[in-house]
Amino acid sequence: MEKGVAVVTGASSGIGAATVRRLVKEGFDVVAGARRTDRLADLAAETGCRPQQLDVTDQASVDAFAAAVGPECRVLVNNAGGAFGLEPIADARDEDWQRMYDVNVMGTLRMTRALLPRLIASDDGIVVNVTSTAAHVVYEGGAGYTAAKHAQRAVTETLRLELCGQPVRVTAVAPGMVATEEFSLTRFGGDQAKADAVYAGVPGPLIADDIADCIAYAVTRPWHVNIDLMIVRPRAQAAQHKLHRES
Ligand code: NDP
Repeated sequence: MEKGVAVVTGASSGIGAATVRRLVKEGFDVVAGARRTDRLADLAAETGCRPQQLDVTDQASVDAFAAAVGPECRVLVNNAGGAFGLEPIADARDEDWQRMYDVNVMGTLRMTRALLPRLIASDDGIVVNVTSTAAHVVYEGGAGYTAAKHAQRAVTETLRLELCGQPVRVTAVAPGMVATEEFSLTRFGGDQAKADAVYAGVPGPLIADDIADCIAYAVTRPWHVNIDLMIVRPRAQAAQHKLHRES
């Protein structure tokens, strides 16, 4: 396709799926990666993207995915990630912290390392890392997630320095509250009531399409325009701790 190959990780739901839909509309040949292939198959039937199983925490899976992408890649959206738990540090579970580091940070590393030669060879590559406002501020109970997202931000900023002079742009999109079906459900281990309470009464939380829009904007700028960072919050969230709820 005219605009080249775009890889989106974490494409089976939420921001990743919305980004696949949007980048296909923009004219990219999109390879959609996630662990749940049934959901990817539905997305492929709907959009025409190329579905490909991917576990960013598993190097062998990343290698197989990268092989399936083919010889060319111009856009990499490192979106796979998430939060597990909201316990204070005193009660933190090692396995939650390790999973958060593995998917958000190591996943970004593995995917970037695997596809970077192709992004450079495209002569107009771009890496978009979906970090979070949690990459910039901390909050009680969030240390495992904020530590991982701060680390993902550090990886993003380091990559931009290391690639200076090479034909690859590096962008961070840092969303505040986005009401996706699964993010909070995953964080609370499937507890729907707790997940619903996160968004209760918030007028107009962001939706996945809002973030897909930001990603598409960064990706479709001319080759010399690098959007370093987009911090995007709903109007009702002036800061991490300043959230307007209507009863
Ligand atoms: P979802 O939980 O809806 O989506 C997460 C996606 O990541 C799923 O498609 C999941 O698919 C995939 N995923 C999880 N683990 C892996 C893995 N090991 N390998 C490959 N894919 C994986 O969350 P959102 O869409 O809300 O979040 C997307 C990104 O945005 C995340 O990085 C998140 O941290 C970030 N973010 C979200 C915010 C929000 O409020 N929702 C706010 C700020 C940032 P599968 O299970 O099929 O593998």
